[in-house]
Amino acid sequence: MKSTSLFLASAAIALLSVTTPAQQPAQTTAFTGARVIDGTDRASVDNATILVRDGRIVAVGAANGVTIPDGARRVPLAGKTVIPGLVNAHGHVGNTVGMEQGHYSAANVSRDLSTYAAYGVTTVFSLGDDQAAGIAARDAQRTPSLDRARLFVAGPVLAPKSPADAVKLVDEDAAMKVDIVKIRVDDNLGTTPKMAPEIYKAVIAEAHKKGLRVAVHLFYLQDAKAVLDAGADFIAHSVRDTMVDDEFVAMMKRRNVCYCPTLMREVSTFVYESTPSWFSDPLFVKHADMAAVDALKQPARQQAMAASTTARRYKAGLEVANRNLKKLSDSGVPIAMGTDTGPPARFQGYFELMELEMMAKAGLTPRQVLASATRDAARCMKLDTELGTLEPNKWADFVVLDADPLADISNVRKISAVYVAGNAVSR
Ligand SMILES: [Zn+2]
Repeated sequence: MKSTSLFLASAAIALLSVTTPAQQPAQTTAFTGARVIDGTDRASVDNATILVRDGRIVAVGAANGVTIPDGARRVPLAGKTVIPGLVNAHGHVGNTVGMEQGHYSAANVSRDLSTYAAYGVTTVFSLGDDQAAGIAARDAQRTPSLDRARLFVAGPVLAPKSPADAVKLVDEDAAMKVDIVKIRVDDNLGTTPKMAPEIYKAVIAEAHKKGLRVAVHLFYLQDAKAVLDAGADFIAHSVRDTMVDDEFVAMMKRRNVCYCPTLMREVSTFVYESTPSWFSDPLFVKHADMAAVDALKQPARQQAMAASTTARRYKAGLEVANRNLKKLSDSGVPIAMGTDTGPPARFQGYFELMELEMMAKAGLTPRQVLASATRDAARCMKLDTELGTLEPNKWADFVVLDADPLADISNVRKISAVYVAGNAVSR
């Protein structure tokens, strides 16, 4: 290209960039005609209008109470049911390829966030393995053009060797600007040493000093009580060794600590003893990592899982977890839907939909299940000023369904469309 035409071309580009974006008034979109379940305790509204501008909800309510401005784009949703986007309070992002971990990359973060969104999971709290690319993704998501799941991160799962090491690692987490600190207090069914109390106490004390909350992976009731005593802020798995007691309920309620069941994590530890029926569900196949699926279909792997004592113990643990979920929910402990998806064989997006069904099977009503996966999960993760319900000023993250999930929670599978910040997610 000659220098004159190069000059003219760049002048034209400069002109375009000055005049085009700034002078367009923000486009308003009106989603009309759907039944809207806004995620609050209010009743569903039939023939509702949702007005969205700049990625956020401007108004939502019965059609006769919401004025659609002239020139608004209209998206007709008659016959559909709209729910808030699902919030997964315990996932993992960016680290897995096929059956292997340790592949953290920006591309894998982006892939995972698109997968979650395709299934209506519009927010995921990643509880560990997060690196700079996850932080960058989180920091880039406060934009009206977002079209993938929102991400919040814990950084690495901390495994300090001493109280002094605990302080150092928490300070590194804080410098990295994580959203929560994550530790494991578990002996993996008696096979590994458990983090000592003086170490997790040091983690929690330092985290609180830095204004950070602490999420704890655990298995046993005694550990759950001990970490609560030490000030833990989030119980990241079900108690699976025994039934929770009234003392535990009281401890959870005293500080309003949330409980994250991750029932599908348990399922993933034993279900591949044979080929699960959902491997042929088109909804699953559409976004599943087929390398993982192929590996899980291998007879040798299935036989090993069928013979595994670990698998059998986690299977029994799931039954305990189901009963504990019901008891804690009945007792008024806040439940945050979470799955522990992201590691190999724990399929993002599809597992969250199954988790909702599992929670209903454990005895929760569809309304309770939906609340735990939207408003309550957002509250538990301190995201509720902007997420979790469909109310003015919140981000317009929602799922359009072909049927009402309050009639049958399995209707969350009947996804017609997913919107993040009012933008249709590709699926
Ligand atoms: Zn986890």
